[in-house]
Amino acid sequence: MVEHFRQKINIVWFKRDFRLTDHAPLAAAIDSELPILLLGFLEPSLMQAPQSDIRHWRFVRQSADDINEQLRPGGHELFLLHCEVLDALKAIETYFDIKNIYSHEEVGIRHTYDRDKKVKEYCGRKGISWLESPYAGVIRGIAKRKNWPKHWYSIMQADQIAVNLKELLTVAWPADLVRLGDLSTVAPEITEDHASFQKGGETRARRYLCSFWSERVAHYNTHISKPQLSRKSCSRLSPYLAWGNLSIRQVYQSAATVKKESKHSWHINSFMSRLRWHCHFIQKFEMMDRYETENINQSYDELRTEWNEEKYQRWLHGETGYPLIDACMKCLHHTGYINFRMRSMIVSFLTHHLWLHWKRGADDLARLFLDFEPGIHYPQFQMQAGTTGYNTVRIYNPVKQSLEHDAEGEFIKTWLPQLAGLPLHFVHEPWKMTAMDQQIYDVQLGEQYPLPIVNIEASYRNAQKTLWSFKKRHDVRKRARQLLTKQDEENRPID
Ligand SMILES: Cc1cc2nc3c(=O)[nH]c(=O)nc-3n(C[C@H](O)[C@H](O)[C@H](O)COP(=O)(O)OP(=O)(O)OC[C@H]3O[C@@H](n4cnc5c(N)ncnc54)[C@H](O)[C@@H]3O)c2cc1C
Repeated sequence: MVEHFRQKINIVWFKRDFRLTDHAPLAAAIDSELPILLLGFLEPSLMQAPQSDIRHWRFVRQSADDINEQLRPGGHELFLLHCEVLDALKAIETYFDIKNIYSHEEVGIRHTYDRDKKVKEYCGRKGISWLESPYAGVIRGIAKRKNWPKHWYSIMQADQIAVNLKELLTVAWPADLVRLGDLSTVAPEITEDHASFQKGGETRARRYLCSFWSERVAHYNTHISKPQLSRKSCSRLSPYLAWGNLSIRQVYQSAATVKKESKHSWHINSFMSRLRWHCHFIQKFEMMDRYETENINQSYDELRTEWNEEKYQRWLHGETGYPLIDACMKCLHHTGYINFRMRSMIVSFLTHHLWLHWKRGADDLARLFLDFEPGIHYPQFQMQAGTTGYNTVRIYNPVKQSLEHDAEGEFIKTWLPQLAGLPLHFVHEPWKMTAMDQQIYDVQLGEQYPLPIVNIEASYRNAQKTLWSFKKRHDVRKRARQLLTKQDEENRPID
């Protein structure tokens, strides 16, 4: 067999970092002066993971399109491939001599961790160097977080990485490999946009950032807990941060600049704390990735052992009979977003009122959240489920939340239009309608809207009693202390 000449190249592998600015791997690859293949992936096996949904891959496709819009004038292209990473590397190796792969370190789910181990092993065997840059101040492989906040601030305040696109030299996709990763094989829901979801891409992300500073930030703290108003007054940057259309540093530095001239420093300070929490949770998950599948505090393994599929499905599809819970679930299915307090409340309803284990709910909400970020999602989910042993347990009352945070029932009426014609007190508590009320307002309970699937007064008492009895147990307290010592949890965010 005659070995044909293989051109030496580098690869930049876009993972959860679909942007062209403040991008260390891309900058390093350009500096290396070898021609580059820019790659992103829609991996079939990852698309089958329980946390994965079409909405995520549509966002990734939009993000890649946006990069390509920016690269087109220079004649470059990022190739988004619909195939496994290893299959692509093997095929590319037959045409090119891959010298280095540049990417960010990914703090992901077990599936991506296992895939990375296989890629690492392949690179080792083939003599390819895989050079990974740290993600947003998250340090890989540390055992304690004692000096981590200081480190994080130093990264946030450092200069952004300059990416010299003028020097970018890319290679064309080999004609013989044209079928590899062909996007015509993915679902049309991925290749077509969907108006109900935030659209991916660096350009969009910048627009959200601009409109947040120019108008929306003014009500940030005051609306943050409101399901309807927070949709506008929160930054809505979460999917752009989760998929890396913006770096945390870019957003942090933008906030610091705006704050100097702004009368909204109270709001901006709270917002900036949340950027730190974002990385704080990811750092924690980096150190303890078992949080994806196991109770943080293993003494809670015996806490919720029974399953009720019907109740679970009613929760998942917004048919619990509690309007605010149901509106949140419907809204999530349709838009991929609800605010922090509502996320906490639906988790509390699942785990405290329905007394169901958190794991399936966590995976299913990961599918529904457009901004699914494993390192935030699993620790937050377990905090709300009360399985850490060191956080204050909050059992949310969905009626109280609804009266306080959706007082006019706007959010409920948007997502449960069958309740829109009811007097306000029935919008919050439809089960209080008599048979005659149901006739007058033409809403039959059990038909147009379900009766409550649980008595929340009774479920509250049970959950409260059991959770507190657990919290007092010697083994729970001992493990909680060990977990805290291990992580050096000072300034622990709760919200
Ligand atoms: C059970 C549960 C699961 C969650 N899962 C996710 C997830 O998968 N991905 C995700 O990005 N956020 C998650 N959050 C945190 C939070 O709800 C969202 O980050 C926030 O609602 C996103 O809206 P925003 O961008 O307008 O937030 P803003 O209030 O404008 O905050 C700006 C950014 O700060 C970060 N942030 C905000 N609140 C938190 C928080 N409490 N913890 C950590 N980081 C935060 C996010 O990156 C957010 O985009 C979860 C919260 C709970 C209770």
